[in-house]
Amino acid sequence: MATSTLFEALSAYVSARKWRYIYPVWSRRAQGISIGVNLHPNHCCNWHCIYCQVSGLQRGPSPAINTPSLQQELSDCLNWLSQHTPLSMRTCVRDIAFAGDGEPTTSPQFFEILQMVANLLQQRSLDDRPATIRLITNGSQLQQAQVQQALKLLNSMEGEVWFKVDAGNDAEMLAINDAHLALALHLQRLQHCCALCPTWVQTAVVSRKHAGGTITTPTLDSYVQALLPFKQQIAGILLYGVARASQQDAQGSIQATAAAILETYAEALRTQGFCVRMFV
Ligand code: SF4
Repeated sequence: MATSTLFEALSAYVSARKWRYIYPVWSRRAQGISIGVNLHPNHCCNWHCIYCQVSGLQRGPSPAINTPSLQQELSDCLNWLSQHTPLSMRTCVRDIAFAGDGEPTTSPQFFEILQMVANLLQQRSLDDRPATIRLITNGSQLQQAQVQQALKLLNSMEGEVWFKVDAGNDAEMLAINDAHLALALHLQRLQHCCALCPTWVQTAVVSRKHAGGTITTPTLDSYVQALLPFKQQIAGILLYGVARASQQDAQGSIQATAAAILETYAEALRTQGFCVRMFV
């Protein structure tokens, strides 16, 4: 069986059940099937990234999560995978990823749900569960004690974090993430993250039409300088271009990021000794 066939069958199974919290996705960065955990089915996020693919994205509070219902959906999903995935293909299910339609760590129930997932996985054999638990985060809550506690738990589960850094200066944080946040403060949060759990930086390289032509962010020099102090602390950098249509770009200013541009960023980072994975 091809991985794509497995993914399509799983997607059809999930879609027929109209689950609220668990969704399968084909992840180019994880390079396989990812089981997503969505703590924001209300499409609310505290940031409003220009390239975000969440349809109907809005700012607002995290919804109350029905933990038993989420647990049931995840159990059903893992059971379906156990029954339909040949042993030789188990590694194509890459991870359980906290991502979804908003920032996972803004949910007051994030810790409790991570704990539930940890307990659920402990009850399954190693062959019967994805190898990695990932948190895909914008990093904005890393100063919160409860989130730091959750990262300690994630670390004990041999999980990892993908931490968003899309900017080389404050103006780019505002332009790309719509976050009124100094880059220096964001990098302090990255520091907390690295101290608690293995961390990859993930960066979207975004090209936009501009009055004078095309502008690409983050500004390469300042971005590389900002990350240099983290060279020994992060596992590496996931560098990706915008490949799918943004739902937030009403003016259609975002262009597909050229492979040659991404390569320029990757080369500059590799020259400084960073491990870089690039996704065109
Ligand atoms: S942090 Fe993630 S979910 Fe929130 S706006 Fe940015 S891309 Fe979308």
